Amino acid sequence: MSVAPAFPLTTLARGAAGLTLEGVALVDIAARFGTPVYVYSRAALVAAFEAYRGALGARPALVCCAVKANSNLGVLSLFAALGAGFDIVSGGELARVLAAGGRAERVVFSGVGKSRVEMKQALTAGIRCFNVESAAELDRLNAVAGELGASAPIALRVNPDVDPKTHPYISTGLKSNKFGVAGDEAFALYQRAAAMPHLAVRGIACHIGSQLLDPAPVSEAAARILALVDRLAAVGIRLDHIDLGGGLGIRYRDETPPTVAAYLAPLLDTFKDRPETLCFEPGRSLTGNAGLLLTRIEYLKHGEEKNFAIVDAAMNDLARPALYDAWHEVVPVVAYDVPPGRYDIVGPICESGDFLAQGRDLALEAGDLLALLSAGAYGMSMSSNYNTRPRAAEVIVDGDTVHLVRARETVESLYALECPLPNAHAPV
Ligand SMILES: *Cc1c(COP(=O)(O)O)cnc(C)c1O
Repeated sequence: MSVAPAFPLTTLARGAAGLTLEGVALVDIAARFGTPVYVYSRAALVAAFEAYRGALGARPALVCCAVKANSNLGVLSLFAALGAGFDIVSGGELARVLAAGGRAERVVFSGVGKSRVEMKQALTAGIRCFNVESAAELDRLNAVAGELGASAPIALRVNPDVDPKTHPYISTGLKSNKFGVAGDEAFALYQRAAAMPHLAVRGIACHIGSQLLDPAPVSEAAARILALVDRLAAVGIRLDHIDLGGGLGIRYRDETPPTVAAYLAPLLDTFKDRPETLCFEPGRSLTGNAGLLLTRIEYLKHGEEKNFAIVDAAMNDLARPALYDAWHEVVPVVAYDVPPGRYDIVGPICESGDFLAQGRDLALEAGDLLALLSAGAYGMSMSSNYNTRPRAAEVIVDGDTVHLVRARETVESLYALECPLPNAHAPV
């Protein structure tokens, strides 16, 4: 007898009422909050975070959740309560972290384009570290810190030039992309930074890519980083933290990513006798398989060559399929006994690229609910209002209760900052 593989969202199960997440039926969530709605599992979020903490054990370490993967205040507040740090890429994300109860001294600030205003905001809040990505940024940060009479804690984001063997759009550690500074350049840049009056050199950072399924490239990067750390120490530049970024992949379809423990094991081995704090910046591996997008079928349309299930979610809600040709598992919430067909799952947006899934064999009827799995990372956080579509609601299931952590947007709010041209009727 073949056993159906467990869902990658481990708190999702099929019962008499269809799919349930923790103790709540998805049909009840749809009835109460409407669709489309992002649904996260508190237990799955906590388990994903604890997997990191458990694997890191007693060694000095900080797990900084990558806010860009999921920036909902409810989700961030949960991680903050667990003692997480945060990896931010904008002043907006810093504001979210603070509003969610996160501590500034556990925040690292990544990104190639930090503005003066964002630097001031982060310095005033007292963040842990700026992960600086260029020589020009060092100069700007030194100047801004000087104006504030402050000292800016910095790490350089170094490009270890290893191939993470992932999708080209989400590979970030190669010489050919915009992130970080080259390994050869970093040594000289650290010496420059150490001589700047308003910078305090604290650490080193790297992040080689996303959806990594093989731990080897990260280990390779870590070895290169360590060699640089020792070279710096030899000239009197001592670092107190080493940030190895995020990037651990998850199962969307049939991938077999390493467990968090297996991913971290070679890194912990490399750094086992080292006093530096190890930082990680996981995004996808914390939230990706802790959430799903719940949507309802509006129409079935049987074309000459293809069948379409037109649903009430679209590429504005979940951009990954259109953007990266990404796969999300599609699961009918209630399994009905109707003839199966091969369907493209598409949204109402006026773009041919508006699909959520293609060529899936499913037994569907109009009105059915579908769960798009593995949507907890880069789902809501990449959503837009294209076609003046209010963004979905977000809820966190917590045992047998459901917390609304983002109300569905209203149409009026989408144009609240706009106004008609006052002289639109003036003759030309
Ligand atoms: C996007 C990003 C992360 C998170 O990556 P995941 O693949 O979601 O773990 C971490 N650090 C930096 C600098 C990033 O740009």
